[in-house]
Amino acid sequence: NNPLIIVGAGHAGVEVSVAAREAGWNGEIVLISEEKHLPYHRPPLSKSYLAGETAVDTVVLKPASIYERAGIRLLLGNRVESIDRAARNVALSGGSELRYERLVLATGGRPRTLPISVLGAGQVRNLHYLRTLDDANRIKSQLIPGRRMVVVGGGYVGLELAALAVKAGLMVTVLEAAERVLARVTAQVVGDFYAKVHRAAGVTIETSQQVEGFELDSSGANIVAVRCSSGDLFPADLVVAGIGLVPNTELASAAGLTVADGVLVDEFARTSDPAIYATGDCTRYFSQLYQRSIRLESVPNALEQARTVAASLCGKQRRYDSVPWFWSDQYDLKLKMVGLSSGYDQVILRGDLSERSFSAFYLRGRRVLAADTVNRAPDFLVAKQLVGAAAEVDPSDLANPAISLRDLLP
Ligand code: FAD
Repeated sequence: NNPLIIVGAGHAGVEVSVAAREAGWNGEIVLISEEKHLPYHRPPLSKSYLAGETAVDTVVLKPASIYERAGIRLLLGNRVESIDRAARNVALSGGSELRYERLVLATGGRPRTLPISVLGAGQVRNLHYLRTLDDANRIKSQLIPGRRMVVVGGGYVGLELAALAVKAGLMVTVLEAAERVLARVTAQVVGDFYAKVHRAAGVTIETSQQVEGFELDSSGANIVAVRCSSGDLFPADLVVAGIGLVPNTELASAAGLTVADGVLVDEFARTSDPAIYATGDCTRYFSQLYQRSIRLESVPNALEQARTVAASLCGKQRRYDSVPWFWSDQYDLKLKMVGLSSGYDQVILRGDLSERSFSAFYLRGRRVLAADTVNRAPDFLVAKQLVGAAAEVDPSDLANPAISLRDLLP
């Protein structure tokens, strides 16, 4: 009965399971997750869910009945410990083994943690990372008005946390090691805009601050302050670190698959073993659009690549090379980003920063590499086409509000 086994039930794994059934996989489908919860959306964990605006049942990806109806066996609370490629078996944490005809790795990633030199050896109760629903629930229980929260890392997740915590009445400080927030992903003008909005909302943003260690209370179980290499000390009742992601590739590398900061896959999501596919945050692939290997951390990437896996599993050809995009919600600001901006040599703005509605286009020469759009959904749709087509535009036309973006499409 040619079983399909999917390891990991995040956005990618779940999408593979239902899309494979739709695409015609008629054998058994087993979806395995080490998490105990019914698979859920991760983006709300740093947005509406943590803010208490949405209930837990609204963050589930699909109701249990969908899996039942599609004949997908969901094994929750089970970790896949190893893969025996010769025998086509996976070993589960409970000791059992399952045979596969085809295997899909959708293992995602885990938060990068602060180095042990910073942490010290012991466990503390008020230091958090945010990846899972359990993490979000732990943080939520400590989001108490009046408390001091230190966020380590001024990336999207860190800033989303800062926005919701300050709104909830906490005193929030963001510590960023670089000279500005969002330095890795946006132009100065966009990073500065976000820093200004946060400061106006009451968040303290400290840049060029490298966390060096923590001061603990007398029990040793709670952080009372965060120490930076500058010598500055930031008092804290809770600390949340959002300092990046490490892809979960250990299972793949132990099985001898090719791995390089991501399980390497081709445009059909095939790994170096023809019986094994991979998708989502755990993968790295060659982007035709950018002519280099990339690893993305976004829901659209997980979903699109999963659909390619499903097609491949059913003998159909569906090349994956879609345009990367991502979103972030902070306060009333809906940021949507498309493309990868690295290598840009100029930034063109449309719209008005003071009206909190603008787009920043990243160009190399005349080519549109990427765009950040803030409260400008129509711009985003056109920007996606410009980026996807590697369109070349006249920068002065792009900057000219009298010229419609649509007129710049090739
Ligand atoms: P994951 O969602 O990480 O799922 C992998 C699953 O596999 C996990 O449940 C893991 O426990 C399980 N697993 C791993 N190893 C094993 C094993 N050996 N056995 C069994 N199970 C295993 N993206 C956006 O596009 N927009 C956003 O606004 C956005 N906001 C985010 C906010 C937060 C707080 C976080 C954490 C992420 C956000 N992301 C956002 C990123 C997005 O959530 C990820 O890109 C997406 O979840 C990737 O899906 P995935 O299925 O590849 O991996």
